[in-house]
Amino acid sequence: MQAYTDSADVVHYIGGKTVRGAGDRTQAVFNPATGAAARRLALGEAADVDAAVASAKAAFPGWSNTPPIRRARVMLRFLELMNRHKDELAAIITAEHGKVFADAQGEVARGIDVVEFACGIPQLLKGDYTEQVSTGMDNWTVRQPLGVVAGITPFNFPCMVPCWMFPVALAAGCTFILKPSERDPSASLFMARLLKEAGLPDGVFNVVQGDKVVVDALLAHRDVKAVSFVGSTPIANYIYETGAKHGKRVQALGGAKNHMVVMPDADLDQAVDALIGAGYGSAGERCMAISVAVLVGEVADKIVPRLAERAKSLIVKNGMEADAEMGPVVTQQALERIEGYIATGVEEGAKLVVDGRGLKVPGHENGFFTGGTLFDNVTPEMRIYKEEIFGPVLACVRVKDFAEAVQLINDHEFGNGVACFTRDGHVAREFGRQIEVGMVGINVPIPVPMAWHGFGGWKRSLFGDMHAYGEEGVRFYTKQKSIMQRWPESTEKGAEFTMPVAK
Ligand code: NAD
Repeated sequence: MQAYTDSADVVHYIGGKTVRGAGDRTQAVFNPATGAAARRLALGEAADVDAAVASAKAAFPGWSNTPPIRRARVMLRFLELMNRHKDELAAIITAEHGKVFADAQGEVARGIDVVEFACGIPQLLKGDYTEQVSTGMDNWTVRQPLGVVAGITPFNFPCMVPCWMFPVALAAGCTFILKPSERDPSASLFMARLLKEAGLPDGVFNVVQGDKVVVDALLAHRDVKAVSFVGSTPIANYIYETGAKHGKRVQALGGAKNHMVVMPDADLDQAVDALIGAGYGSAGERCMAISVAVLVGEVADKIVPRLAERAKSLIVKNGMEADAEMGPVVTQQALERIEGYIATGVEEGAKLVVDGRGLKVPGHENGFFTGGTLFDNVTPEMRIYKEEIFGPVLACVRVKDFAEAVQLINDHEFGNGVACFTRDGHVAREFGRQIEVGMVGINVPIPVPMAWHGFGGWKRSLFGDMHAYGEEGVRFYTKQKSIMQRWPESTEKGAEFTMPVAK
């Protein structure tokens, strides 16, 4: 596949056109594999948010009154275009995020799943109906779109996470403003172009690039009815509180520290493969990455040497090279943060089994590379256990039994994803029942739910009531209206002053 090398500036997309925006602030977008600034990003101002919201508000009456089946047909054409251009989109992701190309293809495929789900919107918007709720009276419910809604997304899935939001919102009849991550913003414009080509009317989908300035303007704007956010927990918390203060509906998905329990009866070959793939895939920059291996009983002594051998032999290189297993991390700052955590782990007394720091990839000496790191004997009070590192660092915690494993996980601040590897059906069932985490895998290391099931964690991994996409997503972008109707015969007359009851 051809690497993405476009050096054009990345700008906003408002009212169906690319625009430079009101301000002159810009920021470099890097290729993490080379460390070079590849293009410049226009950082939006409040005036750009005003323009985007005005455009989305003007487009709302036409779009929301378009019959659901016709909105679905636009989504269907978008689905075809996404499928046709999926490799170009994946190359854009690798060029700005760094993840290996095959993984970027997987990300696009999981985004496309949600577009496909959104094509079923006519069925999903069907309301309830009760004939004869009272004599001569019927009652039904409809779900109507909220209006202008916004999505604020993280760097680690520049295609998939926006696709958790806008296909469902648009199909439901809302108009949308996307504020992508400033670190890998180009995928958003590529998808905007495909939406236009699919026949989406101008103004229905807009992109405002930028940072906190844009986010704060969206949160305060009275015409933005709802905000979907995905990112780190401190910002998710801030978005939830600030959005709620301004009267908006908010779903804010936050950070994670996902555990994988390995029971003594687990298939160890499968468990090792799962820990290596889920710990180091995408350089650990996945909200569903496994960052803690919880090793029960005697399994630890058997598994740690095997993990060490595999972590040391990871093929780390430019993600566009076909045999790469792990690419660079996203920025120089991310690299320093991750390697700083490794130093902290050593100071805290964890056993550093494999040290990935200081890795140099030949020909890419300025790239943001770090190798796979493995810690053993990590304990719950250590910062490397408590905090999200968001890099290729796997921490092994040893526990004596299943009950201790469950307690450890339930006590953690985060509750996004979790896995348990076992051959015992009873243990598996009890794990699923007792664990306080939103998404659970039994012998599945990364249990990201399919498009029609909805995605969301518990505890400080999700602020708000509703999960992303699936039927929860449809509910999030719509509000219920209940209509009661009676056509009285002309003989029934006179006001009623008592609470209406069924007659
Ligand atoms: P981030 O919180 O730094 O940024 C997310 C978004 O918020 C970006 O668009 C960014 O521009 C904006 N933002 C950043 N700082 C802000 C501030 N002070 N005020 C207002 N807006 C601000 O997250 P990131 O580094 O881009 O992404 C990685 C994080 O996202 C990790 O914590 C990861 O676990 C999390 N994540 C969670 C999920 C999930 O489903 N729970 C999915 C993907 C990523």
